[in-house]
Amino acid sequence: MTIADFTPTAVATIPAIVQRARDAFDSGRTRPLSWRRAQLDGMRKLLEDNSEQLLAALAADLGKPAAEGWVTDIGFTIGEIKLLQKNLRKWTRPERVSTPIVALPGSSHRVAEPLGVVAIISPWNYPIQLLLSPAAGAIAAGNSVVLKPSEIAPHTSTVITELIQRYLDPDAVQVIEGGVAETTELLAQRFDHIFYTGNGRIGRVVMEAAAKHLTPVTLELGGKSPTIVDATANLRVAARRIAWGKFLNAGQTCIAPDYLLVDKKVASTFIGELRAAIKEFYGDDPKQSGDYARIVNGHHFNRLTSMLESGSVVIGGETDANTKYIAPTVLADVNVSAPVMQDEIFGPILPMVEIDNVAEAIAFINSKPHPLALYVFSEDDRAIDAVIERTTAGGVTVNGTILHISNPNLPFGGVGESGMGAYHGKSSIDIFQHRKPVLRKSTKVDPSIAYPPYTEKKMKLIRKAV
Ligand code: NAD
Repeated sequence: MTIADFTPTAVATIPAIVQRARDAFDSGRTRPLSWRRAQLDGMRKLLEDNSEQLLAALAADLGKPAAEGWVTDIGFTIGEIKLLQKNLRKWTRPERVSTPIVALPGSSHRVAEPLGVVAIISPWNYPIQLLLSPAAGAIAAGNSVVLKPSEIAPHTSTVITELIQRYLDPDAVQVIEGGVAETTELLAQRFDHIFYTGNGRIGRVVMEAAAKHLTPVTLELGGKSPTIVDATANLRVAARRIAWGKFLNAGQTCIAPDYLLVDKKVASTFIGELRAAIKEFYGDDPKQSGDYARIVNGHHFNRLTSMLESGSVVIGGETDANTKYIAPTVLADVNVSAPVMQDEIFGPILPMVEIDNVAEAIAFINSKPHPLALYVFSEDDRAIDAVIERTTAGGVTVNGTILHISNPNLPFGGVGESGMGAYHGKSSIDIFQHRKPVLRKSTKVDPSIAYPPYTEKKMKLIRKAV
């Protein structure tokens, strides 16, 4: 299958593209549930009808195995869309709240209204999920959207743009392709909400641009997600679950375990279990495995290979610049001040730091910015509870990795340096709609107690009522 060449949107046309989305919103046609349903149907059909083409684009950009592409990009997004379709009426209808005596007779509601025009700027690692899943929420809430896929995954950007133009409302759903220049122009426009997923450095650029228009933002950022393995942990299960979460998409996952904090009493046994798990998943030579992805580009390949110097390679370590292959790698004897322990790794390199106990792990985590995810492997409930209570993270999976993202009843997002705002499930609608408080009065009675002149008698009654 050939994929057309990536062509960035002409910068000069961007203001008019955003205006077209605004005109569509202002016309009122994105508000009825019928429009929202039609768009969600269209988005679902887009994914279902074209899954082969989309998987080919993911393979071209990231060497993404089809099973991973299906589960984490296409299937995940279809699941989110289905949930929005099922609950659309329930999650958008007015919520009745009680009315205090001073406002009676009357009724009070929180009425949901769309925000207007929403910009969604996404990264390259899960380029379908991270573009369409927030877009589905914004559309379900009745907004117009302007989508900006990542130029670092150019095949997916090209395919998804063509499909969006074919399947979705050509006015209310716009796509802008490109990198820094195009996104800078996009961010100069006025939006009613900006939803950005990517690294924290650009998160700051986005927030600064948003401030000019006083536009609220959701920032889905990254960071170093710690993974604790204590002395009581089921080491075999821990190794399999950590290896899966780390080497999925060759480690290019925002909530991948970034580094290990392993009790030194079990460290060498645990390395043995990790070695066995990696062999079980990817065979003797992971390079030959069809189930292992590649690094997205030369820049990230070079950044990652330089991190291999940060410790002793105990598993993996092989690289191939031509195919942007880096083997599933584990580093031991890692110094906490080494580069691999300073920046988010975002690749298949797993450094291990040995600790004496869980308290030391907690202190280490608390000396760093709040991570996006945190994992703890233990059979000791008290240790697990201590980790949950005494640390802060965007989300936690206990005795597993990645999986908290799979539950749409758990809002997904970061805290502090790992982001602000959360989505998935009901939260995906909530962040894109304003719950407008409306108090509706009856005119049948109009007691004069509320009005001047404020007599002694009225004051007594007012004191009782208010
Ligand atoms: P990226 O390079 O694709 O950048 C993200 C988006 O920002 C792209 O659309 C890009 O065009 C745009 N951009 C780049 N430079 C810009 C600039 N100067 N001005 C305006 N826009 C600009 O992706 P990335 O940032 O390398 O993505 C990886 C990071 O994202 C990691 O830190 C990862 O943890 C994080 N991430 C977070 C989540 C999450 O859900 N919280 C998901 C995936 C990735």
